[in-house]
Amino acid sequence: MEDPIAFDLWGAVIPEHKEQAVATIGKLRPDVSRPAILRELIVAPGPDRQVLIARDLAWDTARSLREQLVNHFEHPQVYQTGYGPPNRARLKKCPVHQICYGGVLGCPVCDGWFR
Ligand SMILES: [Zn+2]
Repeated sequence: MEDPIAFDLWGAVIPEHKEQAVATIGKLRPDVSRPAILRELIVAPGPDRQVLIARDLAWDTARSLREQLVNHFEHPQVYQTGYGPPNRARLKKCPVHQICYGGVLGCPVCDGWFR
């Protein structure tokens, strides 16, 4: 049996709120140094320049962060963990939960198999 699905949160830093955004990522990804985060912002692929905000979240956490972080990030997007914007072309998006997922079983939350 596979583990229940967790979620990653991605978003584009709003330039005017860069400092708060970097501090938020630093808090949510304590394993990554500030210089490493700044480097991720620089190399984030265009045009939408999405960066990983947090990984391996439970659904409740992912959903509330997505709402809280709209001040510092444009279009924060929840992905099934392990997937992200580089995979977007082959992912599906749940119209109910707004989750991008790659599993053949469908949206993990609709499916009931999530953390
Ligand atoms: Zn769903």
